Amino acid sequence: MAAASTRAAHDKVRVIFLGPPGAGKGTQAVRLATHLGVPKISTGEMLRTAIAKSTPLGREAGPLMEQGRLVPDALLVKLIGERTAEGDCRLGFVLDGFPRTLPQAEGLEQMPGGDPRGFIVFDFQVPREELMQRLSGRRWCPSCQATYHVTNDPPKRPMICDVCGSGLVQREDDLEAVVERRLREYDERTHPLIEYYRSRARMRPIDGNRPQDAVFQGLLQAVEACA
Ligand code: AMP
Repeated sequence: MAAASTRAAHDKVRVIFLGPPGAGKGTQAVRLATHLGVPKISTGEMLRTAIAKSTPLGREAGPLMEQGRLVPDALLVKLIGERTAEGDCRLGFVLDGFPRTLPQAEGLEQMPGGDPRGFIVFDFQVPREELMQRLSGRRWCPSCQATYHVTNDPPKRPMICDVCGSGLVQREDDLEAVVERRLREYDERTHPLIEYYRSRARMRPIDGNRPQDAVFQGLLQAVEACA
């Protein structure tokens, strides 16, 4: 009910989540998209699905992701161009993990409805030590891609997914050496997008170093204020 009324009030809600790995973007993207009644589009999830199915995209992305490197811009721009053209995106979407580079942001801008002035961009801010702690304790369900944390957000039964009952694992790119590389990629290639969007979109910093419910309330208030 709340989702439907919010969606009607907003007409079209296009949201970008920017932030380093471990900032809580994935968790909040599910909550916000569900609340607004729009799809959550996670490029990381789409790529992991492509790897699991061993599609051409998955075969190209897999080795890069294992090393914590970014997948080439052209592949990502194509993926998002096709996904956002699908019917369920007509009322908007929440983008989790895209764009991650300047060429990706420029690619998005060329897409129908890609004018940055129509976007709300959230910049998730979390201290580095907290990111490391979150990523090292993160566990993941390879079947349904739900995520947990060994102490902050454990599953009901140890290492078993609450949603689908599969065994949980640690993602290879959450191992410490790979995490360092991912954070470096973020600093060098994604962080500049904050400056890029500051003058082009409605940009909102969000303190991600709070309990999940408090972060979610912050997002909702900002979305309402932008309506
Ligand atoms: P995530 O689940 O968002 O942390 O993404 C996991 C990995 O997928 C990243 O470390 C990248 O290797 C790859 N990836 C996801 N989104 C993008 C993107 N927009 N551009 C390039 N690589 C991406």
